[in-house]
Amino acid sequence: MEKVFKNSSLIIIILLILLMFFVLSTGKSDSVEKISLTQLSQQINEEKVKTITVKSDGVVQVELQDGVKQETNKEPDASLTDTLQNFGVDQARLSSVPITVEMRSGASFWATILIPSVLPILIIGGLIFFMMRQAMRGNNQAMSFGMSRARMIDPKDKKNRTKFKDVAGNKEAKEELIEIVDFLKDPKKFHALGAKIPKGVLLLGRPGTGKTLLARAVAGEAGVPFFSISGSEFVEMFVGVGASRVRDLFKQAKKHSPSIVFIDEIDAVGRQRGTGLGGGHDEREQTLNQILVEMDGFDNETNVIVVAATNRPDVLDPALLRPGRFDRRVTVELPDIEDRKSILAIHAKDKKIAEDVDLERIAQRTPGFSGADLMNLMNEGALLAGRRNKKSVEMIDVIDSIEKVLLGPAHKNSRMDEHEKKIIAYHEAGHALIGASLKNTDSVHKVSIISRGSAGGYTLSVPDKDKSLHSRAYFIDELSVFLGGYVAEELVFGDVTTGPSNDLKRATKMARSIVTQFGMSDLGVRTFGKNEDLIFLGREVAEERDYSDKTAESIDVTVAQILAKAKETTERILKEKRVTLDIIAERLLDKETIEKEEFEAIIAGKDISEGVVEQIK
Ligand code: ADP
Ligand code: MG
Ligand code: ZN
Repeated sequence: MEKVFKNSSLIIIILLILLMFFVLSTGKSDSVEKISLTQLSQQINEEKVKTITVKSDGVVQVELQDGVKQETNKEPDASLTDTLQNFGVDQARLSSVPITVEMRSGASFWATILIPSVLPILIIGGLIFFMMRQAMRGNNQAMSFGMSRARMIDPKDKKNRTKFKDVAGNKEAKEELIEIVDFLKDPKKFHALGAKIPKGVLLLGRPGTGKTLLARAVAGEAGVPFFSISGSEFVEMFVGVGASRVRDLFKQAKKHSPSIVFIDEIDAVGRQRGTGLGGGHDEREQTLNQILVEMDGFDNETNVIVVAATNRPDVLDPALLRPGRFDRRVTVELPDIEDRKSILAIHAKDKKIAEDVDLERIAQRTPGFSGADLMNLMNEGALLAGRRNKKSVEMIDVIDSIEKVLLGPAHKNSRMDEHEKKIIAYHEAGHALIGASLKNTDSVHKVSIISRGSAGGYTLSVPDKDKSLHSRAYFIDELSVFLGGYVAEELVFGDVTTGPSNDLKRATKMARSIVTQFGMSDLGVRTFGKNEDLIFLGREVAEERDYSDKTAESIDVTVAQILAKAKETTERILKEKRVTLDIIAERLLDKETIEKEEFEAIIAGKDISEGVVEQIK
């Protein structure tokens, strides 16, 4: 249908162009004088005529001895010589004039006949066809509401095929998924052994860790069709559509089995039913029920595996997680430094990268970045290199993009008042100086007073290596760093602003965790409050209290003590290193940004109170 229409519209356009040419080319030039046959006869008798040309459409072109051109028409069904003789032209004089008869070529003859008659019919026909098609398409759309909107990736489609090698890191997740691939490749082998094949695999992990990518890689490795749909797509439009879409999706998957059904963001439909969480959405429940019905309906010969992904396992309906449904769970973690390096390498492949780009160093500087963040970073680097009119992406372009990915774009045109700028400079200098002065802190990579996102300025500190364990000493020192901005403002200006409010929030939370979660305070080796184990998703969960009011009071007191002690340390350091603090702040006001090397030089060269750090500790 599509093709026919495209072709016919092309023909219509070509015909229209032809018609235009035809009309234009047959337009008579007006420099030719029109004469009658009588005049022509006279002129021949007077021997004024040089040549006569007879055209096939009956036009007679006359050229006189003096070069003047004239035109007349001959009678349709008679030859020109006969006609002229009838007009009384002298026989001898007529034969002395050369007469040429020009026949038109076949093609242009047919064109003159066909174009005026057939073209309008074609155009009208084309229009009718077009309108009918529109109407039909509308119908189709109405009819396909209930069809699944799933996109299928064909295993033969080599370009869109993702393999495990396209997914860096995630070693454990891959190992789990290889089993699934083996099964999809050769289901019979497993059936013969009487093995029960898992029906569903649930991928859990933070956004951007590569869940969708992994699911596609499973299909790509196994070479089976991959039907994907996103949970949020179910929750659109009319009630009842979701369930029928699910039915259709599974029908198609079974037809193409072995195959994979991938439900991305399953939490959009798979929320706990009947809790009213996110609104008691009837449509959602029906859709979820249908998914469960379909999965329960799989027999041992149904070689379809359902893969689902979510970053909110906490809200999932328990029914989804029951044995026989999504009983395989694969956790996708944030990449560690090695994984970050290989993810960067994957996304550097399709870009022009300069020799000086050191992926190892970029990986060092990007703890906490997800795969999607790293992809974004490489792309921002390339965009920046483009804006700087470079031929390839250099190290500096990527490094400069880290903050953009981390904190959002810089507000270049924010005109900050001089005094505010000074406050921010001292605030950041405070964080940085404390970070450099204490032993257990992350090292300072950059200090800047360029405002980004919601931050007025920022101090970028990065641990020297990825840590999965943190010590009490680390937390205590980091608390002092958090308070560095606040204390610097207080010390220098005798007043504080709203600037440190986020610092205080983070410091308070950290101090509370030291007491209630890690058992690192005098209150003893125990936890306070029950938390669901969701730390790996980095989410706070409402805490259930399992201690008395009296304990609550002691917790508050202890938290306050920890914070006060941290503040004391910060004050002592900043007072003793006031000169260095001034130097850093001045430098920031001057250059806006201090890089790692320069910062370390300032600390090393100008530090007049070396050894102080050891005394404080
Ligand atoms: P999720 O589904 O977990 O939110 P995606 O799979 O959509 O994350 O990842 C987004 C993009 O980030 C991917 O298309 C890919 O380009 C990149 N990415 C994420 N993780 C990795 C990885 N481990 N290796 C390579 N690229 C990755
Ligand atoms: Mg995804
Ligand atoms: Zn701050």
